Amino acid sequence: MKICVIGGGASGSVCAIMLARNGHQVTLYEKNEKIGKKLYITGKGRCNLTNATTGNEFLKHVVHGNKFLLSSETRFNSEDTMAFFESLGVPLKIERGNRVFPVSDKSSDIISALASELKKQKVQLEFGKVVTGIYTSNGAVAGVELDGEKIPYDAVVVATGGKSYEATGSTGDGYNFALSTGHNIIKPVPSLVGVCVSDLDIFALQGLSLKNVVVSAFKKDKCLYKSEIGEMLFTDFGVSGPIVLSLSAFVNREEPTDLKLYIDLKPAISQKELEDRITRDINVLGAKQVGTLLEGLLPKSMCEIVSNRLGLMLADKANQLTKENRERLAYLLKNFDLSVTAFEGFNRAVITSGGVDLKQVSPKDMQSKLVKNLYFIGEVLDVDALTGGFNLQIAFSTAAACASNIY
Ligand SMILES: Cc1cc2nc3c(=O)[nH]c(=O)nc-3n(C[C@H](O)[C@H](O)[C@H](O)COP(=O)(O)OP(=O)(O)OC[C@H]3O[C@@H](n4cnc5c(N)ncnc54)[C@H](O)[C@@H]3O)c2cc1C
Repeated sequence: MKICVIGGGASGSVCAIMLARNGHQVTLYEKNEKIGKKLYITGKGRCNLTNATTGNEFLKHVVHGNKFLLSSETRFNSEDTMAFFESLGVPLKIERGNRVFPVSDKSSDIISALASELKKQKVQLEFGKVVTGIYTSNGAVAGVELDGEKIPYDAVVVATGGKSYEATGSTGDGYNFALSTGHNIIKPVPSLVGVCVSDLDIFALQGLSLKNVVVSAFKKDKCLYKSEIGEMLFTDFGVSGPIVLSLSAFVNREEPTDLKLYIDLKPAISQKELEDRITRDINVLGAKQVGTLLEGLLPKSMCEIVSNRLGLMLADKANQLTKENRERLAYLLKNFDLSVTAFEGFNRAVITSGGVDLKQVSPKDMQSKLVKNLYFIGEVLDVDALTGGFNLQIAFSTAAACASNIY
């Protein structure tokens, strides 16, 4: 078959290799001058290419589309990804949290391996070419358009990625291809991204990282998401860091201004236990200042903010705190609240959540249910997962599902 793959990112490069190995005549269009511009920046330049977990354990980290991905992940999982890259001559290692990286710690090794194999498999590489449309005939794909020119193909694979980090070439073109061929798009939103807040007092905390805290997101009185104990960071616009990025993936389809975040600064103990601890500390401190009491409970830079929020002065005497003050302090340390104004934009989002409606795509081979021989793979689909190598594995599993089912 004469097949066109649009996009030389993670999913498109692997799919093109697999299709060519299966004997198809493959053309890969990539708008950049080389493949893998986004791959290059993955894992802070080290490329966390998969997570060495499979089956249910893997799917637990998928936020949207885990049912859809069940079949493709079963047939091409992280073990297959590792075998694929090792067979291309890239030795791999497994780090904390089952994260898989090249031994060299260089994403460029992954890209070079893909580029060599594309050449070896004689994939026709069309760099610097932007596909502008897809055309169909009698309910089947007929080809692609470039600069007004129609080029016929028997099958077309859309591997154009999402909309995050647009400078890498992922500018959301695939959504337009899907819409123009009659598909629904679930609204794309930034995911694995920091959260902007309106609480001016916390901006003094920029750069402060808190370890062993829990962050929850509430809409009115309903808890939508509660993180695991982990690390977060105060930034120039609000909050970020690992547990906030994960939180964003679960609540980013909500209206941001409806959301409040609560930081539990003492997740290991209950509010009552915290009140008892505060009382014990006060008994030891006697007439010393509230500031000294707070410094025993919090990072120094947070003490004034907490005392201001409680209407106390750092110079007040600790042993003059009323029972109500002690209860309010314990409550605030368990529920340090922030009002959300927005999620950071696509250009700071690790991935895009939303995309081609999964109801219109077959999970077995990624073929559109509306247009024959049209396929969608990778981040352009309405699938997304947490950090840890899961998103690249989704790109590879969906690529393999597509490639192994085109005859
Ligand atoms: C900073 C950062 C770090 C990340 N780190 C990790 C990580 O360590 N592990 C992990 O699992 N995931 C990571 N991700 C996510 C991961 O990179 C993506 O999920 C993955 O690259 C998606 O693959 P894809 O093939 O769907 O799209 P992409 O890799 O985005 O590739 C799409 C390609 O299509 C091309 N293209 C688009 N439109 C057209 C067109 N009209 N014509 C021709 N070409 C076109 C683009 O130029 C691009 O090269 C990271 C993302 C970012 C932004």
